[in-house]
Amino acid sequence: MGTTGETPLRYAIIGAGMSGIMAGAKLLKRGDSDFVVFEKGAEIGGTWRDNRYPGLTCDTPSHTYSYSFALNPEWSAYYATGPEIHAYFKRVADESGVMPHVRFNNEVRACVFDDATAKWHLTLSDGSTYDADIVIAASGVLHNPKVPELPGLESFAGKAFHSARWDDDALLDGARVGVIGCGSTGIQLVNALSSRASRLVHFQRSPQWIMPVVQFEYTAEQRAAFAANPQLIEDIRTNAEYWDAVYRFTEGVTDFTSPQMQEIEDICRRNLEDNVHDPVLCEKLRPNYHAACKRLIYSWEYYECVQRPGVFVETGGIERIEPAGVRMNDGTLHELDTLILATGFDASRFIRPAVVSGRDGRLLDDFWEERPRAHYAVSMPGFPNLFMLNGPGAPVGNFPLIDIAERQWDYIEQVIAPLRKGEGRTVEPTAEAFDAYEERRIAAARKTIFGSGCTSWYLDKTGIPATWPWGYHDFAKAMESPVTSEFVVSA
Ligand code: NAP
Repeated sequence: MGTTGETPLRYAIIGAGMSGIMAGAKLLKRGDSDFVVFEKGAEIGGTWRDNRYPGLTCDTPSHTYSYSFALNPEWSAYYATGPEIHAYFKRVADESGVMPHVRFNNEVRACVFDDATAKWHLTLSDGSTYDADIVIAASGVLHNPKVPELPGLESFAGKAFHSARWDDDALLDGARVGVIGCGSTGIQLVNALSSRASRLVHFQRSPQWIMPVVQFEYTAEQRAAFAANPQLIEDIRTNAEYWDAVYRFTEGVTDFTSPQMQEIEDICRRNLEDNVHDPVLCEKLRPNYHAACKRLIYSWEYYECVQRPGVFVETGGIERIEPAGVRMNDGTLHELDTLILATGFDASRFIRPAVVSGRDGRLLDDFWEERPRAHYAVSMPGFPNLFMLNGPGAPVGNFPLIDIAERQWDYIEQVIAPLRKGEGRTVEPTAEAFDAYEERRIAAARKTIFGSGCTSWYLDKTGIPATWPWGYHDFAKAMESPVTSEFVVSA
């Protein structure tokens, strides 16, 4: 129950994905075992449980996409596959002792702050309730599939489904397959299916810039060496070249006219022009917006795969879906057996649809009416003791995500330190500090590459990039030392 001498606190963690498992493991490590992880699904893993599509790979290097406290010598390759990553999270949840704390098939329906007791009252989908001092919303960002409103979609005779709702019975091998969407998901799907389908059509409303990267497998000898000497893993995790690229990129995105952004666009352009030989296809695949405006795609094989026999790129508008396939605006009909909707996610939901009611009955839906927002992406005035991991305005698209979550956890630990010391029962950012922060964030966000004239899930409904608008160092510094005067601790 906390470290000796501390005021015992009870925690509710919402979501048993990457961030929720991390939060549970960190609590256990410091001796806090009074917590439950509420998980709406039947398994842990979040996005790695929901996404099971062929070709799923994480485009952050495997040793970087690992918890600092659970290095994994067994990663099979520089970029790990989805199933391997899912297995890693299951193993960490087991080995860290988090698993017995997870309540599966238990969606949080409501989260109501009681001003009198200073506790959060949670109502679960099974009808049970749970009271907690601290709520950690580790509910993820990209988990509400966006199914496009394509006329006639219901009439399609074959299987049509969203990429995050994979249908194991769908015809793929030797079949005629369509993939709508060319974000990271659509690109990885096309790579995997290009050697399996008899005919594969990649429907691209907006072609994407592709950053070339190198994939390679780790040999058995290398894996044995990693196991024998974890410093070898640390060397990869701290690789100067990798981090230099991260720093340059994350500093560069803050100003879309920066030389770093120009350099990235040049690399992507050369990748396209050097590798796509048919000039008609090359023009079809050329985006008409700045590289990295939409989330940059990292691939070592897309241009090769898309030029395989039987693979076609369709950039015309879709008129409707018919029982036989996809009818384009120009009248062309692409006859298909299977249609995969790699059409992305509604990134504005976060903890919702749970009804969240803070101090004095203030509703999160109202607080977020204009846009989801949080102080340094973590906490909100009027919602004491509620903290988000990878919440609104977090650098979710471009920084290594586990690193972000761990840094956010360090920040939260510092913010709640007064409660653990018994100096008060609640902590929240002041409205003044939050408003000043949000004003600065919006002004900076408008200048970023994400706001340079394209559509993407980064943009809120008013068109302002919803992501962290400053560089990596700024983020690391902000998470290292929360400004005490920006928070109010109450009895
Ligand atoms: P996404 O990046 O939002 O891409 C959705 C795609 O669907 C876009 O090409 C979009 O076109 C298209 N689309 C949406 N509605 C459409 C419609 N009605 N008609 C035609 N096309 C339509 O979604 P995602 O690929 O699932 O990726 C989401 C995020 O997940 C990524 O940005 C990334 O952060 C993460 N992710 C990461 C990895 C990884 O390797 N780490 C892998 C997969 C996903 P427009 O661009 O024209 O809107």
